[in-house]
Formats: sequence, C-alpha cells, structure tokens
Amino acid sequence: ILARGRDVCKRNGLLVLSVLSVTVGCLLGFFLRTQRLSPQEISYFQFPGELLMRMLKMLILPLVVSSLISGLASLDAKTSSRLGILTVAYYLWTTFVAVIVGIVMVSIIHPGGAAQKEETEQSGKPIMSSADALLDLIRNMFPANLVEATFKQYRTKTTPVVKSPKVASDEAPSQRIFIYEVQEENGSHIQNFALDLIPPPEVIYKSEPGTSDGMNVLGIVMFSATMGIMLGRMGESGAPLVSFCQCLNESVMKIVAVAVWYFPFGIVFLIAGKILEMDDPTTVGKKLGFYAVTVVCGLVVHGLVILPLLYFFITRKNPIVFIRGVLQALLIALATSSSSATLPITFKCLLENNHIDRRIARFVLPVGATINMDGTALYEAVAAIFIAQVNNYELDFGQIITISITATAASIGAAGIPQAGLVTMVIVLTSVGLPTDDITLIIAVDWALDRFRTMINVLGDALAAGIMAHICRKDFAQDRDTEKAPPCET
Ligand code: ASP
Repeated sequence: ILARGRDVCKRNGLLVLSVLSVTVGCLLGFFLRTQRLSPQEISYFQFPGELLMRMLKMLILPLVVSSLISGLASLDAKTSSRLGILTVAYYLWTTFVAVIVGIVMVSIIHPGGAAQKEETEQSGKPIMSSADALLDLIRNMFPANLVEATFKQYRTKTTPVVKSPKVASDEAPSQRIFIYEVQEENGSHIQNFALDLIPPPEVIYKSEPGTSDGMNVLGIVMFSATMGIMLGRMGESGAPLVSFCQCLNESVMKIVAVAVWYFPFGIVFLIAGKILEMDDPTTVGKKLGFYAVTVVCGLVVHGLVILPLLYFFITRKNPIVFIRGVLQALLIALATSSSSATLPITFKCLLENNHIDRRIARFVLPVGATINMDGTALYEAVAAIFIAQVNNYELDFGQIITISITATAASIGAAGIPQAGLVTMVIVLTSVGLPTDDITLIIAVDWALDRFRTMINVLGDALAAGIMAHICRKDFAQDRDTEKAPPCET
C-alpha cells in the first residue's frame, strides 16, 4: 500500500508540476516582455526549453521503430489486420467529423465578415501546388534511403524563374525593340514585340523534387510497420530481432521515465521563450481574432465534447478519468506544438495511468501521431472558409464537400511537427480555387493555434488507443499469454 501511495504521489506530483510550469511560463513570459530583452538574451533564455525539445526528438526514432516492430510482430496476422483496419477507419472517420465541426463553427461565427481584407504582411513567397504536395506525401511514404529519412523529408522546392525580355537591337534605349515571351494560360509561349517600352521581367515558378530538414516520420512508420508484420510471419526465425526491438522499447520508456522530471522546468522556458518572441498581440486584427476564437471553439467542441462522448458510448467508461490520465501529454503538446515529440509521454501516460495494453499502444500511437490529426483537419477547414469569407468568395455545397475531403487528406499529409498544417493547407485552398498567398493572412496567430490543435491531435490518438483497447479486448485477452516478455524483462 505504501509503495502504491508513493506511486500515486509521484504521478500526481509530476502532473501538478507540469500544470504549474505552464502557468509560470505564461506569467514569466509576459513579465519579461516588459523588460525588452535583446534577441541574444532571448535566445539564451530559451536554452532550457531547447534542451527539452532535443530530448523529446532524440527519443522519437528509437520509440517509433521499436514500438511498431515489436507491437506488430507480436500479433498474429488476423489480429494485426483487424486492429490495423479498425484503427485506420476510426482515424479517418473522426478526422472527417472534426472537419464537419470546423465547417459548422466557421459558418455560424462567420469570422471573415463581408468587408475588405485587412492589411497584413504578404510574404510573396511562392507556394507549391496541391499536386506537388500530394506527390510529396507519397514520396515520403517510400523513402529511398532509410538513414536519410531520419533527418530529411521530401519537400518540393518552388523557385522563381525570372525571364528578362530579349533586346533585339543595340540601338539607344528609347528606340529599342523588345521581344517578349509571353506565357499563355494553356502553357504555350508566344512572342510579342514592343517599341520604346521597358517591359517588366516575367516571373514564373518552377517546382522540382527536393528535401527539407526534419525526420520523415511517415516513411519510418511505413517501413517499421511492414517490417513488424513480416517478422511476425517469420515465426521463430524472426524472434531475435523482435526481442531486440522489445528490449529497445522498454529501455526507451525507462529513459522517458527519468527525462519527465526535467520537463516541468523545460516547459517554463519553452512557453516563456515563445511569448517573448511573439508579435504584439494588440496588432492582431479583429477578424483574425474572431478566426482564432472560431478555431479554438471548434477544437473545444471536438476534443472535449464529441471525442469524449464517442469514447463513453463505445467503452461505457468515464472519459474524464481517461483524459486526466493523459493530461501530462496534453501539456507537453501545448508546450512543444509537436505530436511526434509528445509521443514518448503519450505512451507513458497510456501505459502507466490508463493501463492500455502495450501492444495496442505500440501500434495505435505512432500511426496516430503520423496520420491522425483531428485538430489540424478542423483548423484547415476553418482557415480555408475564413479565407473565402475574407475574399467575399461564395462557396457552393460542392466546394464545401471538396474542402471537407481535402482538409482530411491534408491533415493526413501533415507531419507531427510545429506548423506543418500551415504548409499542407495549400491542398485545401487550391482544391476550391482560393488564393494560396492568403495563407499569409493567418500566419500571425498560427503559432498559438498550432499549440491547441496539437493538443487535440494528441488527445485524439490517446482516446483512439482507449477505444481500440476496448473493441479488441477479446483478441488481446486470448493473445495476452502468447506475447513473449522481452529478454531484458525476464
Ligand atoms: N503541430 C501539429 C502536430 O504536431 C501539426 C500541425 O497542425 O501543424 O500535431
């Protein structure tokens, strides 16, 4: 009893510390804003928070690989395919529901109004097309080089090509004849002549496959899941590798158990550091404020009403108790804006506080952190319709359906890293012909909304694990004795 009492104190102590650290981080950040620190001082101040991010990122690779391989290899073919199909179907369905909630919210609140666009900074940066974004998603699923996938992902690069007009003669500038190359909408080039006129150079955008920094989690998930399934089918001959992955998984979780004691300290600096960096909140326009409120309301309805109700109706268990068990993971999501970085803590909370079967968590969580982003999908739908409203663009029913489908797809394509949703939103905008440059309208508040949508993304994954554990409880009760304990545990 004493040991159990100590355990409860330890767990709740950490939770209380995490809640306190978010509060202290906010207060400290707003206080230090009044002290006008230099950029150099701010970057030194952010160092403890940077360490927290580094610790979490360090754990992602071993955790995803070991949990998927050992999780899937320990299931028989029937159980793994049933769990796989149910999980993916559940993810798609809840993401679609999140989009509908977003659409309803933005239609009721109507944050874009009917007036003129507010003045916002335009970056003028070329943004890739939705076809390129889709191809990147598929490329990332099949990394050509697994080692490279640990630090790079495929991201199409769009570069401007400036076409200068050709000068036809060497005469004085006032008498020059210029030959323009004009690119028609259908792609054909026609030549034009002009006399005594300085033609503006034409800028066209060229996109080509490229890479960007950041782990290709999707590719690693695809590879590890396939490897896990194959090892499971190999039986005894695959057992050494499965045992290795089980040991790796256990040891990563032990590292997490130690590292979590640093997190409350890191969270203070992570949150305060972000507040120090942010623009003056009073410069955020009224419409943008309403837009942010719309996204937050949608996230609250989806995360605190719809998903918990779904959990309750399926499992008949108290969702509040479940959510309390993953509160620490939600706070880490708030602090880091990254569902991938939060993954180790989500695992810890589900196994220790909510007692979810580890074989279910090992599959449902890494896949969820990669493809299940309810918060991101909801935000993308709201943002697209907000941009339409700001542009006085009437969307018909077909376009709303298109937005709901593409927002679901775009959230699947978004990586679990800060502000990834902003990049994939181009898919949604181009699908209904909205100007992709208008993404710049919402950048000012995106860093804050990203934190809230990441919390809902993580909550969605955690509740999915709870629901899958309930639905598949019979399969796993039969299998329970057949899972081999890792050698390091025996
Ligand atoms: N930051 C989000 C996540 O990690 C993705 C996004 O919506 O930008 O889940």
